[in-house]
Amino acid sequence: MKRVAVIGAGPSGLAQLHAFQSAALKGAEIPDIVCYEKQDNWGGMWNYTWRTGLDEYGEPIHSSMYGNLRTNISKECMEYPDYSFQEHFGKSFASFPPRSVIFDYIDGRAKKSDVRKWIRFRTPVRRVTYDEDKGMFSVAAHDLVNDTEYTEEFDFVVVAIGHFSTPNVPYFSGIETFSGRLLHSHDLRNLLEFKDKDVLVIGSSFSAEDMTVQCWKYGCKSVTISHRRATPIGHKWADNIKEVPLLQKVSNSTCTFEDGSTTDVDAIILCTGYLHHFPFMADDLKLRATNRLAIDNLYKGVVWVDNPKVYYLGMQDALTFMQLDVEAWYVRDIVMGRIHVPDRDARLSNVKERMAREDAEIKSLADHIRLYIEYTVELLADTDCPRFNIEMWKAALYQWNDQRSENMFTYCDACYRSPVTGTMSPLHHTPWKDAFDDSLECYLRD
Ligand code: NAP
Ligand code: MG
Repeated sequence: MKRVAVIGAGPSGLAQLHAFQSAALKGAEIPDIVCYEKQDNWGGMWNYTWRTGLDEYGEPIHSSMYGNLRTNISKECMEYPDYSFQEHFGKSFASFPPRSVIFDYIDGRAKKSDVRKWIRFRTPVRRVTYDEDKGMFSVAAHDLVNDTEYTEEFDFVVVAIGHFSTPNVPYFSGIETFSGRLLHSHDLRNLLEFKDKDVLVIGSSFSAEDMTVQCWKYGCKSVTISHRRATPIGHKWADNIKEVPLLQKVSNSTCTFEDGSTTDVDAIILCTGYLHHFPFMADDLKLRATNRLAIDNLYKGVVWVDNPKVYYLGMQDALTFMQLDVEAWYVRDIVMGRIHVPDRDARLSNVKERMAREDAEIKSLADHIRLYIEYTVELLADTDCPRFNIEMWKAALYQWNDQRSENMFTYCDACYRSPVTGTMSPLHHTPWKDAFDDSLECYLRD
């Protein structure tokens, strides 16, 4: 019997386990599966913790979730193709739920799919190497609870630990003199700490935008957004929010920007993104990537070019549960011999084509969404991954992009049609800006 190691039991790893389980339910003979998970439960990023830095075993904290997080994309853009929100919660509800609702949903499908038996919790992987002669991988893992390390052999390895966990922390001149609160968005847990404060946010992407509107909602005095874009982000901000060029230097509480302007702040939130970080993979198996759509050295976005028995799930800049299922099905079908992987030259040219196309065609978020949809649909076509309404999914993603660019303070109040059930979500009982109870019970109330 072939053996598959799946590293991580977050949305990507669970999608992989679910894909194998779905084949088993249809009567196929599936390989032996071992899933290694560092945390004490599944859910990955969505498994919220109050901790920051290191956990109780000295392992880096995985989750970048803060307590008050609500999805920044509508739930209809990221629904499981074979397990709708309606099926899980028994009702239709509004489109931008808090993290607790998404965790409950992830938990629900994983339970229904009955994949817990394959997962070894509290077991981070320490080293993955490949033995050419044997044609096998050796995976060394650490049982944290018993503090023992052991090694097992596998035919295939699926890396599914995500890429939004290891903060990218650039240096700014004099930042060591900063007298206020300094943190990366990965370590933010409670927005109330910024009430009545002057906050500097660095970056111009999703975290920078989310921190800005959330600090505003939770009553900060002001937000200054500093970034290295040549032009403003393009949103109409509230009066106490302004954009400035990149931070040049810090002296105590005074920040100086590249145009010579200065401002005094109480807190700096570095929304400077994350590193694709796989320290446990041997050199010749290790993905080195930046946050983009077409990833170097991954054929079809998932297969390691130099060794097509290694797979990386969800490495793209954009993640939905649809895409993760499609990728997991694709990988499963390679492992089970249903999809043929071409030779190295063909794999490499597939990667180069994807990267060149992205570089030539992506000028806006709408272009990014278009290529992302095309990519997902391309992989979907080769598998029996459950179908969903692609036109409705497209419509939801473009609606999200349009409404978000139109108004960052109201886009979370919009209704969306589900590409899985075809149902339109109802209006939420409370507009986003007035909703301070982020519990599941409150969100699901009629
Ligand atoms: P990201 O999209 O990779 O953006 C990183 C940002 O850091 C970019 O603006 C980048 O600027 C900037 N940056 C990197 N190095 C820098 C440097 N040396 N100096 C100045 N700026 C620098 O990462 P992210 O914004 O953290 O988003 C990660 C993911 O988390 C996204 O998928 C997002 O949707 C998700 N997220 C979700 C929520 C939510 O659901 N509510 C909230 C937050 C984040 P350049 O563009 O100039 O390189
Ligand atoms: Mg980006």
